[in-house]
Amino acid sequence: DNPVVRVSNLSFYYGASQALFDISLDFPREKVTALIGPSGCGKSTMLRCFNRMNDLVDGARVEGSILLEDTEINDATMDIIELRRRVGMVFQKSNPFPKSIYENVVYGLRIAGVKDKVVLDEAVERSLQGAALWDEVKDRLNESALGLSGGQMQRLCIARAIAVNPEVVLMDEPCSALDPKSTIRVEELIGELRSEYTIIIVTHNMQQAARVSDYTAFLYEGALVEYGLTKELFVKP
Ligand code: ADP
Ligand code: ADP
Repeated sequence: DNPVVRVSNLSFYYGASQALFDISLDFPREKVTALIGPSGCGKSTMLRCFNRMNDLVDGARVEGSILLEDTEINDATMDIIELRRRVGMVFQKSNPFPKSIYENVVYGLRIAGVKDKVVLDEAVERSLQGAALWDEVKDRLNESALGLSGGQMQRLCIARAIAVNPEVVLMDEPCSALDPKSTIRVEELIGELRSEYTIIIVTHNMQQAARVSDYTAFLYEGALVEYGLTKELFVKP
C-alpha cells in the first residue's frame, strides 16, 4: 500500500565509521513502528535521519533515499524548518523550555508564524487533550512547565510535538526516564495517538515494543535483520 515514510538503501557514516548499512524499510500510515535492538546498533541514528538531526554532527554522511510522502528528505534543498514541522520529535529526557505550559505547546506554531490567539488557544487545548494532559493543566496554563512531574513533562513534550499536526512523530526512548506508572500512562497515550499519527518509536525494551507497536524492525550492528508485524514476531513457538 502507501507508506508515509519509505526508506531505500539507507547507509549512514560518522566519518570513517559506518553506523547504518543499506537499510530499506517502509513505515505504514497511522501505525506504530518500533525500532529495537541492542545499545549501539543504530536505532537513534536511524531516527535522527528522519528529521535530519544528524546533520549537526561533524563528518556525518548519508547515502540512499528517505521519502516522506513525495518529498526526498535527503535532498540538499530540503527545507529543514518545513521538515521539522512535518516530522515531530519526542526525546528520551523530556525537555520542556523554562517557559509556561502554554508557550511550550505553541512553540512550533510560533516558529511556523502563527500569531492568531484564537488559533493558538485552540491548538493548545486540542494538543493537550490529545496528550491526555488537558484536565491536569487547564487551570495553570500560564505556570512554568518546570513545575510539572516527570510524567506530565513527557506528555507535555508529546503535546508540543503534535501541536503542529505532523505527519510523523518520532519518539526516542520516550519512557526510559519515567517511573512505571508514568510509563504505562505514556504507553496508553501512544495507543491513542496511533489512530491519527504515524509513529516511529525507538526502544531497547522488547516488552514495550510488544505492548505499543504494530510493526517491529530489529537492527543489529547497523543492519536491519528482522521486520514484521509485532504480534507475529513476538509470538512464542
Ligand atoms: P543506538 O541508538 O541503537 O544505541 P546509536 O545510533 O546511538 O545506537 O549509535 C550507533 C553507532 O554510531 C554506535 O557505534 C555509536 O557509538 C555511533 N555514534 C552515535 N553517535 C555518534 C556520533 N555523534 N559520532 C560518532 N559516532 C556516533
Ligand atoms: P543513545 O544510545 O540513546 O543514542 P548514547 O549515550 O549512545 O545515547 O549517546 C549520547 C550522545 O552521544 C548522542 O548524541 C550520540 O550521538 C553521541 N555519541 C554516541 N556515540 C558516540 C561516539 N562514538 N562518538 C561521538 N559521539 C557519540
